[in-house]
Amino acid sequence: MDKQQCVIVGAGVIGLSIARELARRGFETLVVESAHSIGTGTSSRNSEVIHAGLYYPQGSLKARFCVSGRRALYAYCEERGIAHRCCGKLIVATNPGQRDHLERILASAHAAGVEDLRLLSAAEARQLEPELHCAAALHSPSTGILDSHAYMLSLRGDAEAAGATFAFNTTVNRLWRADDGIELAFDAQTTPTLRAALLINAAGLNAQALALSMDAMPAHAVPRIHYAKGNYFTLAGRSPFSQLIYPVPEDGGLGIHLTLDLQGRARFGPDVEWVSAPNYDVDPARAALFAPAIRSYWPSLPDGALLPAYAGVRPKLGGPGAAAVDFVIASPADHGIVGLIHLFGFESPGLTGSLAIGEHVAALAEASLAA
Ligand SMILES: Cc1cc2nc3c(=O)[nH]c(=O)nc-3n(C[C@H](O)[C@H](O)[C@H](O)COP(=O)(O)OP(=O)(O)OC[C@H]3O[C@@H](n4cnc5c(N)ncnc54)[C@H](O)[C@@H]3O)c2cc1C
Repeated sequence: MDKQQCVIVGAGVIGLSIARELARRGFETLVVESAHSIGTGTSSRNSEVIHAGLYYPQGSLKARFCVSGRRALYAYCEERGIAHRCCGKLIVATNPGQRDHLERILASAHAAGVEDLRLLSAAEARQLEPELHCAAALHSPSTGILDSHAYMLSLRGDAEAAGATFAFNTTVNRLWRADDGIELAFDAQTTPTLRAALLINAAGLNAQALALSMDAMPAHAVPRIHYAKGNYFTLAGRSPFSQLIYPVPEDGGLGIHLTLDLQGRARFGPDVEWVSAPNYDVDPARAALFAPAIRSYWPSLPDGALLPAYAGVRPKLGGPGAAAVDFVIASPADHGIVGLIHLFGFESPGLTGSLAIGEHVAALAEASLAA
C-alpha cells in the first residue's frame, strides 16, 4: 500500500489554507478533491465578504478565527496583490425597536476584540448612504470584500511551491483506522490503497458522511449536519450604496443584506432556506420574499429589479430555531482515533478566518504527528 504523511480531503478555501500551512512546515502533503479544480464547492458560493467579527460569542472559534483571520487576510491580499476593498458596512435598525439589538451587537463585538465600530444616528448614516432608510446604524469600517478565486489560486500556488501535490477528479469514498494512521479508498475502490499518517477531513458539506464512512468512528463525535441554503439575487442597474448594508441578523443567517462585488455591482442575499439535501437552484419566485425585506432599508427598490443569481449551502450544526453553533474541529482527543482531524460546520466566517484556521489546524496536525 502507498504511504503519505498528510492527506487533506477537500480543496476548498479551508483545505487549501491547511495544505499551504502544512507544506510550508515541511510536511509531505497531498490534497484530494472530487471536483476538477479548487474551490468549486461552498468556497465559490458565498458573499466574498471579509467579516469584521461582530456577531460571534466571546471565546468562540468563530470569533477568534474571524478577528485574527481578517487581519491576516488583508495583509495577505496586500502582499500578493489580490483584489480586495475595505469598503465598510452598515448594520441598520429599520425601526427604533431594533436599536437595542444594535447595542447588543456593539457590546459583543467589543468583547470579541472589534474596537472600531461606531453607533450612528439615522442622519449620520444617511450622510454616508443618502438612499438608506434607518432609525440608527452601526458602522463597521473594517469589513471588506475580496476576489476569493484569486485568493484561492494564490493559496494553491503557495502550497505547490512548498511541495504539496493535488489529485483532482478523485473522491475519497471510505476511511479505515490502521495501527499507524488512516487508510483510504478512492472512487469505486472497495479496499484501501493509501495509508496516511495524518488525514484531515475538510470535505465541507460532505465532512459528516466521510467521517461516518469509518466503522471505528464514534457516532457521538460526528455532529449532525443541517443544510441552510442561501439564495442570491443581483440588482439590475447601478448600486445605490457604496458600502455593504445589513439588517439586524435573523434566525440562521444575517438577514437579506446587500453586498457589492469588486466591480461595484450589488447583489442581495443570502436568505435562509432549510433544505434536506444541497441544491443550487434559485427559484425566481423568492424575489417576492426579498423585495419587502430590502425595502425596509431601501424603499426605492424598483419593481422587477431583482434577477436570480446563484445559491450556496451552509453546513449548519444546528437546525431551524437552534442557537448558533461554533465550528467543530474534532481531533484525536475528541474521537480517540490517532492521525485523524475532522472539520465540521465551517459556515461563515470560514472564508474570512481561513488563514487563521489553516494555522490552527496545521499546529494540531504537527502536534499529532510528533506524538
Ligand atoms: C451562502 C454563503 C455565504 C457565505 N458568505 C461568506 C462570507 O461572505 N464571508 C466568509 O468569511 N464566509 C462566508 N461563507 C462561508 C464560507 O464560504 C465557508 O466557510 C468556506 O467556503 C468553507 O470552505 P470549505 O473548504 O470548508 O468547503 P468547500 O468549499 O465546500 O470545500 C470542500 C471541498 O471538499 C470536496 N469534497 C467533498 N467530499 C469529498 C470527498 N469525499 N473526496 C474528495 N473531495 C471531497 C468538495 O468537492 C469541495 O471542493 C458563506 C457560506 C455560504 C454558504
